[in-house]
Amino acid sequence: MYLKSIEIQGFKSFAHKIKFDFHNGITAIVGPNGSGKSNVADAVRWVLGEQRIKQLRGGAMTDVIFSGTENRKPLSYASVAITLDNSDHQLAIDYEEVTVTRKLYRSGESDYLLNGSSCRLKDINELFYDTGIGKEGYSIIGQGQIDKILSGKPEERRELFDEAAGIVKFKRRKHASLKKLESEQANLVRVRDILSELE
Ligand code: ATP
Repeated sequence: MYLKSIEIQGFKSFAHKIKFDFHNGITAIVGPNGSGKSNVADAVRWVLGEQRIKQLRGGAMTDVIFSGTENRKPLSYASVAITLDNSDHQLAIDYEEVTVTRKLYRSGESDYLLNGSSCRLKDINELFYDTGIGKEGYSIIGQGQIDKILSGKPEERRELFDEAAGIVKFKRRKHASLKKLESEQANLVRVRDILSELE
C-alpha cells in the first residue's frame, strides 16, 4: 500500500484545487517558509479523521477552510481526498485503490466518503486501525513528535507499539464489548429492583 495522490481544495492556504501525485520512492515537498508545506501534512491528518483541532494548528475546526487573502474571498468549504494504492490488500476492503474524502462546510456540516460513497467517521477509523495510517498512527511524524514519544508516558508509547503490532482493533472491540456488558449489568440490576418491588 502506498499513497498515490492527494487532492486539496479550499483547505487552509490551498484555495484552488490542487493535486499532488506521488510515485514509488522518496518525494520531498519544498518551498519557502509559510508556503504551505505543513498544510499538506495537515490535510492528510484531517482527511484521515483528525478531530483534535490543536493537531491541525487551529482554534476551531472551520479554521481549516480557506479564510481568504487580499485578492481572494474566503471559501465556503474545504475538501481533501487521498488515494491509496491497495493492490496488496493491506486495507480490508475489496478495492485496488481506496479514496477517502472529507468535506467541511462553514455551517459545520461535514461529509466523509469512501470511494465516492458516503460513510461514517467510524468506518474510516476502522479501515485504518493497525495500519499505522489512521489518525493515531505513526505514518505522519510531526515536528517535535519524536521528542514527545521519547519523553512521554510509557502508556502513550505502548499505544504506538499496539498499533504496530496490529492489536488496536481487538482492544477497541474488547472495550466496546465491556461497555455493552456494563450497561447490560446495569439493566439487570434495574430488572431485579422491579422484580423485588413486585414480590
Ligand atoms: P514553515 O516552513 O515555516 O514551517 P510551511 O511551508 O510549512 O512553513 P504552513 O505552516 O504549511 O507553511 O502554511 C502557513 C500558511 O498557511 C500561512 O501563510 C497561513 O496564513 C496559511 N493558512 C493557514 N490556514 C489558512 C486558512 N484557513 N486560510 C488561508 N490561509 C491559511
